[in-house]
Amino acid sequence: MTAGRALGPFGDDTHDVRVAPDVVLSQKYPFVLPPLGYAFQAAEPAVDAATLRAHHERVHAAHVASLNAALAAHPSLHPLTLGELLMGLRKWPAAVRPVIRLDGSAHANHALYWKLLAPGAPSVAVPGGKLAEMIRRDFADREALQAAIVDAAAAHAGTGWVWLVKTATSRLAIRTLPEEDSPLLEGELPIVGIDLWEHAYAPRPLARRRDYVLAVLARLNWDVAGAQVE
Ligand code: MN
Repeated sequence: MTAGRALGPFGDDTHDVRVAPDVVLSQKYPFVLPPLGYAFQAAEPAVDAATLRAHHERVHAAHVASLNAALAAHPSLHPLTLGELLMGLRKWPAAVRPVIRLDGSAHANHALYWKLLAPGAPSVAVPGGKLAEMIRRDFADREALQAAIVDAAAAHAGTGWVWLVKTATSRLAIRTLPEEDSPLLEGELPIVGIDLWEHAYAPRPLARRRDYVLAVLARLNWDVAGAQVE
């Protein structure tokens, strides 16, 4: 986003970035933890059931509660969707910005991550449609894309997420962002997000981060990823 420009509700309108048709991004205050929609053991062996359950019921739920608690004192922000709150972060009162950045991002990030881990038909195992074309254009093939995601995740120090995003110029790019920062904060559209916090793959040791990211990519629901760019 360009400083000093009048921003629309979705940020700089010259960017070819729109909030994806994502239910959680359309939520308004008070925000609600979305149901996982599948069994906790369904993402094994990439993510074990106990880890997935604690991550959804404790970590994600805590971010939703914290976001709601902070926004309770800011009724002027209640008509805004989560997507609008994230993309317009610079416009909101300074006192509430850190909470929207942390807990609002975390709410959006985890909601996408649960969907990306969702089991699906065998056809979801490979990217299709527009996303497949973009991968061919920007990474040659899915194997090269996945290798680049794994390398970026392994090189990222500390907490954060590894992302496949659609940039302001409609290219695919890999980012690693710290803590819970959503790509939407910078006007980039999340397509794939993999949580790199240790709580995402505990009790495995930190040295296994590469294996965890590989395992998540191996079972990724590419229908969900593809829907982000359609
Ligand atoms: Mn997490």
